[in-house]
Order: sequence, then C-alpha cells, then structure tokens
Amino acid sequence: MSEQPPVEILTSNRVKVSNGILTQVHSARACADRSYGCWIHHPRAHALSVAPVHWREDRGIAERICDHGIGHPDPQDAAYNFHELGRDITVHGCDGCCRPFPSWALAPREEDR
Ligand SMILES: [Zn+2]
Ligand SMILES: [Zn+2]
Ligand SMILES: [Zn+2]
Repeated sequence: MSEQPPVEILTSNRVKVSNGILTQVHSARACADRSYGCWIHHPRAHALSVAPVHWREDRGIAERICDHGIGHPDPQDAAYNFHELGRDITVHGCDGCCRPFPSWALAPREEDR
C-alpha cells in the first residue's frame, strides 16, 4: 500500500482530502464518544474506508470515490448527519461499491447518555 491515506490530518483543525484542504475542522475531542466514530479522527472499517474522500462543499458532506469514479456518502459522515443534524444523506446513484452499508451507520439513535 503505497497510496496516500484518504484522510490526512495536517494540524488540529486542517485536514487534507482528495479535492483540497478542509479548515475549521472540529477537534478530536468533539467526536470521541460517538458510537459510529468519525471519518477523520476515529475511522471505522467499511467497504470504502480506504477510498479517497471528496468533500462536497455544496452539500457539506464527505463522499467516498470508488474505483469507478462514483461518489458514495461516507457512512460515518452519514451517521453524523443522521444522528446530529437529523438529515439523511444516504440517497445517491450507487454502483454497489459502498455495499454492504454498515449497520452501525444508520442505527436508531441510542438514548443511553
Ligand atoms: Zn472527528
Ligand atoms: Zn464503483
Ligand atoms: Zn454507494
């Protein structure tokens, strides 16, 4: 594996993705206790976890680009949007590369904290 990592943390609030550098990124502490982790600080395994990240500025979401150039919503970002922002970003034109979509990504909100 000589490829670049899909996400490169440059400084505490700057992160490099395939199409640029994100600024004003939240701190690693802000996402530490999320059950679904964080695609930046606490990555979890999923079908496209080593695929490049494309930040969609227009929608404010992170997509994973598969080998065929198709953008799929990052499941951890999808979980964040669902649980924290109440929006479902998982609808997309899919060629199947992000399947199976991990069950933890869109599990119902847990009221245990
Ligand atoms: Zn984070
Ligand atoms: Zn594909
Ligand atoms: Zn997909």
